[in-house]
Amino acid sequence: MPDSPVRVRFAPSPTGFLHVGGARTAIYNDLLAQKLGGVNILRIEDTDRRRSDEAMTRQIEDALRWIGVEWDEGPYLQSERLDRHLERAHQLLAEGRAYRAYETPDELDAERARLQKVGETFRYREGRSPLAADEIASRADAGAPFAVRFRMPSEPIRFVDLVRGEVEFLPEVFDDFILLRSDGSPTYHMSVVTDDIDMAVTHVIRGEDHLSNTPKHIALFERLGATVPTFAHLPMILGQNRKRLSKRSGAASVEEFRSQGILPQALYNYLALLGWNPGDEREVMSRETLVEAFTTERLNDSAAVFDPEKLAWMNAQYMSTLDLSEILSHAAPFLTAAGIGVADPDYLAAAVDLLRTRAKTLAELSELAATYFEENLAYDPELTAKFRSQEDLAEHLEQLAARYAAVEPFDKEGLERELRALAEALEVKAGQLIHPVRMALTGAKAGPPLFDVVELVGREATARHLANFVAHLRG
Ligand code: GLU
Repeated sequence: MPDSPVRVRFAPSPTGFLHVGGARTAIYNDLLAQKLGGVNILRIEDTDRRRSDEAMTRQIEDALRWIGVEWDEGPYLQSERLDRHLERAHQLLAEGRAYRAYETPDELDAERARLQKVGETFRYREGRSPLAADEIASRADAGAPFAVRFRMPSEPIRFVDLVRGEVEFLPEVFDDFILLRSDGSPTYHMSVVTDDIDMAVTHVIRGEDHLSNTPKHIALFERLGATVPTFAHLPMILGQNRKRLSKRSGAASVEEFRSQGILPQALYNYLALLGWNPGDEREVMSRETLVEAFTTERLNDSAAVFDPEKLAWMNAQYMSTLDLSEILSHAAPFLTAAGIGVADPDYLAAAVDLLRTRAKTLAELSELAATYFEENLAYDPELTAKFRSQEDLAEHLEQLAARYAAVEPFDKEGLERELRALAEALEVKAGQLIHPVRMALTGAKAGPPLFDVVELVGREATARHLANFVAHLRG
């Protein structure tokens, strides 16, 4: 155990549904906190009010809860901590770590464009203002609006990233970035570092897209006299097209996979393995097992390609092994959408249990289950053509129906015995009865073992389906 308690944070900006990349970051924070007995903090970075939305914040919390990520503190709203961000910025200004800059956004844009034309990148450093010194002085005297810029150091910044190893940024790429805009509002850098200090964050696990911000943040931590946390920058998740996974390349948010009927346990497991491995062949791993196996050393440093088929495979594993009660609770909205009622919970549970191994998603499961709740099945004439051409079949099925009306108890052993005895008496192969009975009861050519199906469907519905099917054959 490390000396100081581990404190990690997941800090999403509530600008849309929770992307699977964000969910994976949340999962690694969750795993590290669980592994080291640390604290996981949820912080909603909602300072960009134009893009943030309260409903989205709730959405993100709901998605995290659904997938099984736990947090010990928060959610803190960054927007409620503005006073602290301002306080820290003014502290830096007072200590000479930051300074006032009087250029207007238009002047900065013009300078940026001018440099671009000569093939240079605009980097703001003190003394390199596009404004003349006397212009700066007169704006200061006149009390003109100003931005507060951070004085970046002139030495390289080095750190050891848990994913990428040693990372170095040279001063040539630094610029004296803005801490407070001219309207007085703090920037993302000011807010995020202030919050990480105040929340005593020890490990920052976040997407690689933030890597270029890290030297700025490290310099800020140092100038504010705080301990620099350990960083881990996770590579991007790519779609099958090898571009950054986005809605365009298919489903990309937790919400979308949820509505496809993916189980949260499967998505958690799949995402945990998308950028990390346990060092052995294991793939199906519960959160508890993942926590046990987790170590930041096996976080991958190359981009991962999201494979929907692998996720479907993973989901199928959970569909067949998870507690039935879990499956039922996650399946409930899908069953409702498929028009399946819960009038008989035992029957519903038995049907779901019989079909769970045959479906890759909860949506597929509900589609399969719907047949088992039909009063009367509509038979597809193409699928039944073969049966309709068998002369004695209707008669044989009536005899079977008579036996099934009397069999006691109505269980799969008895049902199988009766069917085989009848086949023998009629001198036909058992299959010649089994296939049409399956069609009669489910309207499909394939499915779970037949006698399990008949037992589940029950005496009354079996009689009704057989009678309907006989009518269909004769019709
Ligand atoms: N709010 C940032 C984002 O959603 C994350 C900031 C961080 O983790 O440091 O990308």
